[in-house]
Amino acid sequence: MFPQIDKPENINPKDWEDWQWQVKNSISSVEELADYIEVDQKLASEIEETEAKYRWKITPYFANLMKRDKDSGGIRKQVVPTNRELHDPVGVIDPLDEEKHSPAPGIIKVYPDRIAWCISDNCAALCRHCLRKRFMTAGEEGDFSREGRQQALEYISQTPEIRDVLLTGGDPLLYPDSWLEDILKQLTAIDHVEIVRIGSRVPSTLPQRITPGLCTMLKKYHPLWLNTQFNHPLELTAAARKACSRLAEAGIPLGNQSVLLKGINDDPETMKELVQGLVAMRVRPYYIYQCQILEGTEHFRTPIEDGINIIYNLRGFTTGFSVPTYVLDTPVGKVPMNPEYVKLRDKEGVVFSNFLGKDWREPNAAPKPGTKYEIDSWRLPFNEDLTD
Ligand SMILES: *Cc1c(COP(=O)(O)O)cnc(C)c1O
Ligand code: SF4
Repeated sequence: MFPQIDKPENINPKDWEDWQWQVKNSISSVEELADYIEVDQKLASEIEETEAKYRWKITPYFANLMKRDKDSGGIRKQVVPTNRELHDPVGVIDPLDEEKHSPAPGIIKVYPDRIAWCISDNCAALCRHCLRKRFMTAGEEGDFSREGRQQALEYISQTPEIRDVLLTGGDPLLYPDSWLEDILKQLTAIDHVEIVRIGSRVPSTLPQRITPGLCTMLKKYHPLWLNTQFNHPLELTAAARKACSRLAEAGIPLGNQSVLLKGINDDPETMKELVQGLVAMRVRPYYIYQCQILEGTEHFRTPIEDGINIIYNLRGFTTGFSVPTYVLDTPVGKVPMNPEYVKLRDKEGVVFSNFLGKDWREPNAAPKPGTKYEIDSWRLPFNEDLTD
């Protein structure tokens, strides 16, 4: 686990370690890509066809990992465009109706007490499965102006129920330290904002970004949390581990949000290797997202049963805190898709089955009078007599 991956020989090691060099030298043409993987005529024309609709970009660091995934395509499929993105019969552009849930520029409010705030539409590498694929439409620039930001901050400061602000995008960590510090300073000065969290994929796609200077700045704004996105064990390199330990040492609790992706991580063995590698670098698996019914991502979608099966194969078979919650994001919030452990419910109590399918009967107290139950998920309807 955590191998040191050799950089291409012709690149200066100092450049390679410099995140700004990585950003400036990102790969976004067939010619540049050919330095890292074999690009035949068919792939070249697919990419050219697809890039007319969706932008693409890969950091040299992440592209370099593709050398290792010849058979699985675990890295390549996440970032190299294919024309399957253009032939999706069912997707929609904004599956979470985010545009309708936006009370101020960039802000998405679905929950009473917390918001997601998109402060950019730029990422180190553009994931082909991105939930906000609308942000990568070719030729369209998002509006992330200073005025919009001030309006958003104004909205947060005037909305006392917001106690948790998630900075997302795009990737907030592509901004310079001083820019980020300005936002963090203003957010943490708001009394009712109890925690700030950052959603960033740079620990996986651009680990060089996690510099000691960035960490020194971030740790002034605690309680600060960070959720990242690793989808495949091949992303767990020495460089990624170093980035995560710098963040952890700055006291930032780290979580991971994977997307369940067909042909990449949709089997229990790959997921187990991924979640165990994550906890070994102090990142707690937080969510596995069901891939959204989103235009251009049909080739990544798996049946929900596959996700549930993965959770069945993790619970009990690995460390409890390695098991993420499998969720579907919807316009009305994230919905957990828990495997069904409850087999039966009757007067005497509840029968659960454990991770090996062994039953356990637990007596159950009578519920408080007037308690309402959502019974759909129970194998047997709730027995009215229990309240007697
Ligand atoms: C995901 C999300 C959050 C954060 O949800 P948690 O389950 O608390 O991590 C908040 N707001 C929006 C709009 C989201 O999509
Ligand atoms: S890092 Fe997140 S926001 Fe950026 S392209 Fe990937 S999935 Fe989308």
